[in-house]
Amino acid sequence: MPNLIDGRKIADDLKKKLLTLAQHLEEKRGVKPGLAALRVGDDPASQLYVQLKGIQAKELGYHFEEHVLPAWTPLSTLEAKIKELNQSAHIHGIILQLPLPTELDKFHFLSLIDPAKDVDGLHPLNAGKLFQGIKDGFIACTPLGCLSLIQTVHTHLEGLNVGVIGASILVGRPMAILMLQQDCTVWMAHSKTQNLPSLCETADILIVAIGNPRFIQGDWIQKGATVIDVGINRLPSGEFIGDVDFDSAQERAGAITPVPGGVGPMTVAALLRNTLESAFRHENLPFTL
Ligand code: NAD
Repeated sequence: MPNLIDGRKIADDLKKKLLTLAQHLEEKRGVKPGLAALRVGDDPASQLYVQLKGIQAKELGYHFEEHVLPAWTPLSTLEAKIKELNQSAHIHGIILQLPLPTELDKFHFLSLIDPAKDVDGLHPLNAGKLFQGIKDGFIACTPLGCLSLIQTVHTHLEGLNVGVIGASILVGRPMAILMLQQDCTVWMAHSKTQNLPSLCETADILIVAIGNPRFIQGDWIQKGATVIDVGINRLPSGEFIGDVDFDSAQERAGAITPVPGGVGPMTVAALLRNTLESAFRHENLPFTL
């Protein structure tokens, strides 16, 4: 049986450290880390994700606020709301929950967020800093969380072959860059990639984020590989499953994340980490975990 990578436990361990640091910040400076979530429309998955983020932020003693705008919100109202949050003294992190209603251009609105409060790491400046290896930006939460999970299995990443399947700005692209910065040899695949099974066989670490239930088959996976399944797919039965066919994959993998309970909890923990780091930066305090 492979090593099951317990994302809940690893996230809980990180959150305990964040709680202690947040308490120190409040004692020392009277400052609570502040996180604001901005949601447009009534997408049920987005409602649930923001609710989860809010509950966990409050558990760590953060200030949390949710701003909900209707799907028909005029462009200027959303722009004004982002500017208001940029200027708010008690907000250190702003998340614009995606997806936005189709008529709103996410790139336009993400680029209006103050990069110093862009704790999702999706502003072009932060994405560019990741690309160039400049350390004072924010790294997108899901890739950051995946790297922490991978580091529980691999103490040395240099030279390992990493495959990233999925090329979104939210997960796949920043994930590939992050692994390149760990001196891994990285390939990326997407919906037009040819011969995916034979590519997968070359990966010591395979990271999958495509949104296609049980797409990656166990016999594609290199024996002993580490498999990180980012996918969250809801079946008509209500069950959540990943992009990897878990039953056949666990026959081959050396370590694998379950869905649920793998990447999801680490994504939220990484968001809380970035928010706390933002508050420390704002107070000119060094942030070390
Ligand atoms: P997206 O739709 O923006 O991007 C999907 C990517 O996968 C695209 O690059 C596309 O080319 C590629 N792709 C699609 N089908 C493919 C195929 N058959 N073969 C190879 N590549 C294929 O999706 P996203 O936002 O990156 O999310 C991907 C999945 O990860 C979704 O299930 C989403 O719910 C999940 N997700 C989970 C978390 C988490 O915290 N666990 C966070 C973000 C996204």
